[in-house]
Amino acid sequence: MSRRLPWIVSFLGLGLAACAVSPTGQPQLSLVSPAQEVEMGRQLSREIEQKVRLVQDPVITGYVERVGQRLAAVSDWREIRYHFKVVDAKEVNAFALPGGYIYIHKGLLEAAANEAELASVLGHEIGHVAAHHPAAQLSLAFGAQLIATALLGQNPALWGQMAAQILGGAGLSAYGRSQELEADALGIRYLARTGYDPQTAVTFLEKLLALGRREPGAIERFFASHPPTAERVARARRLAAQVRPAGPPTVQTAEFEAVKARLRR
Ligand SMILES: [Zn+2]
Repeated sequence: MSRRLPWIVSFLGLGLAACAVSPTGQPQLSLVSPAQEVEMGRQLSREIEQKVRLVQDPVITGYVERVGQRLAAVSDWREIRYHFKVVDAKEVNAFALPGGYIYIHKGLLEAAANEAELASVLGHEIGHVAAHHPAAQLSLAFGAQLIATALLGQNPALWGQMAAQILGGAGLSAYGRSQELEADALGIRYLARTGYDPQTAVTFLEKLLALGRREPGAIERFFASHPPTAERVARARRLAAQVRPAGPPTVQTAEFEAVKARLRR
């Protein structure tokens, strides 16, 4: 009971918050409405895309968009339009803005061995969006009142500041352990629903964990907003064993291999 107290206190204190239930049934504090989340994502994506270089090759971007949309179509928040973009950067990283704006780094595509591993990361990011984690984190980091003024157009500079923090690794890097585990569980659910092998969520997490152990400080640089942990691997393994895709699961596709070949050019 005492563990829930800070949430109740902040709920009363903010006056703007509403209680909701996440897709996995966890109580959730929501500080902005779904429509406001989409607007936050739209404003932030404009700022982000001025600050990073995006991959423009339509073969690569179209492919990532197709895999992402397939997963988004079976997610727990289907009413919004999802956007998937590839950042031209070598770090193994991915992040999601509120309201369905999802970015993966080119380095992540390079680290994935097959389409299902890529799908496991996209599914994890969609899980964060569907569970409203990015909006909750940004609300905690910047304050709901400040975000409310920006949504009213009274503080347009805030979007730029927020985007800079997100890209700098702050802002969204504070996903809690329970949010990471929830996004993993949702991602595995979406993999199973789209016929991808859920085991690839485990293999990709193991790969990231090994990468982090091999290179000192790599956890900070690689996958900063979703640090791989032994607990995540163990939980993912248990969940992946429980779900059964309808038919023979998809792991690899010719399209993925064509995209990988294109990345190497
Ligand atoms: Zn995550």
